[in-house]
Order: sequence, then structure tokens, then C-alpha cells
Amino acid sequence: MSDYLIRLANNPVARRAIGAIGLPTPDELARADGPYAERPLEGKLVLLSDAGNGTVMSVLKEALEQAGAEVLASLDGERRLDAAVVDASGARVPADLAGLWESLNPVMRKVNNNARFLVVAAIPEEAGDPVQAATRRAVEGFTRSLGKEIGSRGCTANMVYVGEGAEGHVVWPLRFFLTGHSAYVDGQPVRVNNAAGKPGNAPLSKVLDGRTALVTGAARGIGAATAERLAAEGAHVVCLDIPAAEEALKATADKVGGSALPVDITADDAPQKIAAFLKEKRGGVDVVVHNAGVTRDKKLANMSRQFWDMVIGINFEAVTRIDAELDKAGVLNEGGRVICLSSIGGIAGNLGQTNYGASKAGLIGYVQARAPELAKRGVTINAVAPGFIETDMTAAMPFAMREGGRRMNSMSQGGQPGDVAELICFFSAPAAGGISGQTVRVCGQSLIGA
Ligand code: NAD
Repeated sequence: MSDYLIRLANNPVARRAIGAIGLPTPDELARADGPYAERPLEGKLVLLSDAGNGTVMSVLKEALEQAGAEVLASLDGERRLDAAVVDASGARVPADLAGLWESLNPVMRKVNNNARFLVVAAIPEEAGDPVQAATRRAVEGFTRSLGKEIGSRGCTANMVYVGEGAEGHVVWPLRFFLTGHSAYVDGQPVRVNNAAGKPGNAPLSKVLDGRTALVTGAARGIGAATAERLAAEGAHVVCLDIPAAEEALKATADKVGGSALPVDITADDAPQKIAAFLKEKRGGVDVVVHNAGVTRDKKLANMSRQFWDMVIGINFEAVTRIDAELDKAGVLNEGGRVICLSSIGGIAGNLGQTNYGASKAGLIGYVQARAPELAKRGVTINAVAPGFIETDMTAAMPFAMREGGRRMNSMSQGGQPGDVAELICFFSAPAAGGISGQTVRVCGQSLIGA
């Protein structure tokens, strides 16, 4: 679906008129238009600052240079920046937070549209005392607030919490957050640690070469976009959807050079069918994307038992049954990646969505609870929580609700299925081994669930 305000804002006269009546004038976001590049920051100007005793500076500098950026230690006259990275990992006490102000206050009027801000902090739970822990946590409030100031220009602010000894794991989120691959991910913290393995020499482009991915609900929407994105990184994608959607499913599978697997994931024998297909046809699976999902909205007083069971069954229970069978049959390969589609409705709850909210919050709990056990095999499991994404699901919403969902975020626009696919792809990569048990939103920093 296209956004009429973005279309109108392209015309200078209409843009002035829209602005005059107090409506937002969002611009098309600067999105990446292909797979990961070896040097995605080639030609980009990035300021790297130490907010005080930062411990990640050398890793950040090397990662930026390896990505092709021109790295500055201080502003260079009137040259405008494409990104600013601040290492706040050394902050111990509240006064140290001034390092954030010193690093970024002079920068705010010197950045291009669609600029990227990335702030690095140490993990609060690893702090030596409560004040140090709280100071580390304060960095998140700073970053989220910054995101809200700059989103209207297509700029984003995100952060990485780095665990002790896990500095090398910062490379992958840095490359994601500083490029157009994360255009609609804003105000989000990601944690990296060594639980599922130390950083290795994982590929930074064609990251899924030779790997097999399963994407459920792949006939359309976010699932179809995800199948395309993973295939662009070299994966063979097994595309799954209900038998009634077989024609569209085959079209997706053909487009991405993958296989079609028409199965209703709630059928009694679905987990066995899926595991057998992956084992026999592909010898195992490396990436599992649990994307199939439905809404059946009603206030609780009006909700039928059928709607309740359907939403919990498809969105949540089927995920746990499929994973249990993949484990039992030994189909999920070592170093595997599991990604569940949650929702900001699972974080904040939504009117008329007690069933959906429960199913999506369940997935947040599921990835948290499963991460430690899977880490022993180098497997990670994470959830993505989309906000308002322009798909058939949201096209079916009443106008006022649709408009509210679309505009109430830092970027005044909805996301595209490809934006969610980008976040899923980020988690799917071998280089994302430092991140597990987490839920990251792709919502343009939506006010819902904030
Ligand atoms: P969509 O309705 O366009 O696509 C969902 C796909 O899942 C369909 O192809 C459908 O046939 C398939 N599916 C449904 N039941 C199935 C079953 N029993 N077995 C196999 N396949 C089944 O939805 P979408 O907008 O692309 O959403 C994809 C996921 O993202 C869902 O889990 C949804 O809850 C989540 N999500 C979407 C949004 C949004 O704004 N669109 C926001 C938050 C979360």
C-alpha cells in the first residue's frame, strides 16, 4: 500500500499546504536497495567519539574503516555527517553522562537527512554497583529521546549494550544500524554477549550462502519479503503457507529459487511433515522464521472461543510444536538462527486484541526462555516486533485506526514488509551470534508500546 502523505509531500506546493494544516510531511526513507555489501559505508562520513574511558573505541574504529567509512575524531568544518557513533561504555556515575552531551550537542545541526546515530554502553547487569548499573541504563533513555527528536528527517538513533569480552560482537549491529538496512528500526537497544559463542570470522556479505531457511506464511506480505531478502543473501528458502494459498506460495518460491511447502501449521501432523521435508530434501535447516500469523480482533466480551483458539493456535502454539519436533528430529543445524514474529501489540497490548496480544507476548517470553538452552549449540533465538507495516493485514483496518497506527511514530509513516525482512535477515546472519533472547522492534519508534 502506498502512503498518500509521502506522495503529496514530494510536490513542493502540496508539501507547504500539508504542513500549513499541521499534518506531517514525511519523506521516503533512504533504504538499502540490495543485499549486504562488504563496504556499505564507502563514501560516508562518520564521527566516532569517546564519551569518556570508552572500552570499545578501537573495535568501533576498525569496524567503521573495514566498512569503508571516512572516520573523523572531531567535526571537520562545515562537512555534514552521515553518522555519529559514541562509545559511552566507560560511564560510571551520573556526571559521566555529560560525555554524551559533549559528544553530540555540537553535532545535531551538522548531520544529513537519514543520518544514523549509534550509542554503545556496557551491560547494566554486569556493573560493579547500583549507581554504575543505573548510569549505564540511563544511556538508553538518552538514545530513545534522541530518536524522537530526529525521526522526522529520516534519521535514527539506536544503541548496543556490549557484554564484557564481547566487544567483537559489536561489528554486526554497527553495520546494520549505520546503513539503510535498518531504515525503520529506531530507538532500539540490542545486547551482545558471548553466550552462544565468541565472535568469529563470519561473512559480512552473501551471509547465507549455502544455508537453508524455512519461512512460514511466505505466500505474501512480510513472509514473502523475508523469503526474497534471505534468498538475496544466498539462502535456499523453503516457503511454507496454507494449502489454500498454494498458487501465491509457488509464485514466491519460484521467484526466490526456493521450494514450496503447502502445510497448515496447526494441522496435527504439521511439525512432523515440516521436519521430514527439511531433513530429506535439505539435510537440515539453518534459519527458521516463524512468520505465519493472523488477527481476529474483538473486545473480550464479544470474542468467540473459536477466535481465541485460532489466534493462539497459529501465532503461538504452532511455533512451540514445530520447534519441539525440529529439536527431537535433530533438524536444526548447529549455529542455527530462529526468529519469531512478535508485534508491538505483544509489548503494549491493543484494544480488541486480547488473543493477539497474548500470542505475541508469549513469543517474547518464549525467545527469552529458550535462548540459554539453545546457546549451548551456538543457536540463537530472537523476536522481531513490527509496528504498523503496510500489508494486507493493516489494509483491512478501519481508516481512523490505520491512520493512527501509520502516523504515531517518530517517522510519521508506516513501514514496508521489506523493513521487517531486513531485521529478520540481520538476526539470521552467522555474524549475529552475540545476540539472543531479545525482541527488537521495527516500528519507526512507534508511540504504541513505548
Ligand atoms: P499477512 O496476513 O499478509 O500474511 C500472513 C501469512 O500467514 C498469509 O500468507 C497466511 O496464509 C499465512 N498463514 C496464516 N495462517 C497459517 C497457517 N495456519 N499455516 C500456514 N500459514 C498460515 O500478514 P503480515 O502482515 O505479512 O504479517 C506477518 C507476521 O507479522 C504475522 O505473524 C503478524 O502477526 C506479524 N505482524 C504484522 C504486522 C503488520 O503491521 N503487518 C505488525 C506486527 C506483527
